[in-house]
Amino acid sequence: MMPKVFPIHAARRPAPPFDGARLVDALARPMRDLRISVTDRCNFRCVYCMPRETFDASHSFLPHSAILSFEEVARLARIFVGLGVTKLRLTGGEPLVRRDLHRLVGMLSALGAELTLTTNGSLLARNARALKDAGLARVTVSLDSLDDATFRAMNDADFPVAKVIEGIETAAAVGLAPVKINMVVKRGVNDAHIVPMAERWRGSGHIVRFIEYMDVGSTNGWRMDDVIPSSEVVRRISQRWPLAPIEANYAGEVAERWRYLDGAGELGVISSVTQAFCSGCTRMRLSTEGSLFTCLFAQSGHDLKSLLRRGASDDEIRNEIAAVWQRRDDRYSEIRTAETAKQQKIEMSYIGG
Ligand code: SAM
Repeated sequence: MMPKVFPIHAARRPAPPFDGARLVDALARPMRDLRISVTDRCNFRCVYCMPRETFDASHSFLPHSAILSFEEVARLARIFVGLGVTKLRLTGGEPLVRRDLHRLVGMLSALGAELTLTTNGSLLARNARALKDAGLARVTVSLDSLDDATFRAMNDADFPVAKVIEGIETAAAVGLAPVKINMVVKRGVNDAHIVPMAERWRGSGHIVRFIEYMDVGSTNGWRMDDVIPSSEVVRRISQRWPLAPIEANYAGEVAERWRYLDGAGELGVISSVTQAFCSGCTRMRLSTEGSLFTCLFAQSGHDLKSLLRRGASDDEIRNEIAAVWQRRDDRYSEIRTAETAKQQKIEMSYIGG
């Protein structure tokens, strides 16, 4: 589905000047994180994200002219940082399929916000050094199973697990550590691999996070029955190695943290289905073609690219972003029902995961 994008000047009136007061949305949430999607393309076809039946040869990905240039992304990111954003995350699609991504990393790292990247790890071994040298702080690598056959089936690109592990190890070796490793758990597909995943990374210094399978987009055929609640993940792991909860690192942290009582480090669970964390959500999303989305489950966005390309000043853009945030009242995960799960939503590969 091509997303609905509202022109930012829908009412033909520029947003009122933002007065520089603390920027909060309609539910009093501050804007702290910006997720930047740098491409809608991916070299994987994960069955729960970009199912091959939909994202096949007939799918039209964005043409180069439609996607923001690195200079445009960097300009917007600078404005966001000026509005209080302290964390920038590059994502996609698969961000490392965008050529010369390290150049964008270099431009963004000069802004002083924490800068991270989410990747499927397939191209990480060959890019890790350049990313680190350009100023990237850390990486999060998606890895749904250590079992090669299961992993190849889930990425549906016949990509071997060993190459992703090599990417994780290279990233750690160049200092992009600790690496966070994200496993999306789908019942009957990879839930038997929860405990082996925990075992592989216990004591490594890296942090595995188990993510509840979500009803993002409209193509993955999501059903509640496929979700393994995080409580069950914690129960299965702690039967083998007892766990205790630990404090969040900061207000609004998405992952709930648990530590191994035997001192082998920590893991995280992300429970966006069974324990929604909308009330602490401080994230804005910038799509590949320069639209703003105030929620992962949004049905429409706000067009910033037109503003950029028709020569708007930094102040105008800043006022528009502030106005979008001030109107924000999304809390999709808190009001999710079987019915809302069927709504047409923007695909995660487009909006940026
Ligand atoms: N290609 C990169 C990657 O694989 O990490 C970045 C984009 S991907 C959309 C970002 C994250 O979203 C991945 O960790 C992926 O597993 C997760 N994801 C995608 N679809 C999901 C779903 N339906 N439920 C939960 N997580 C999902």
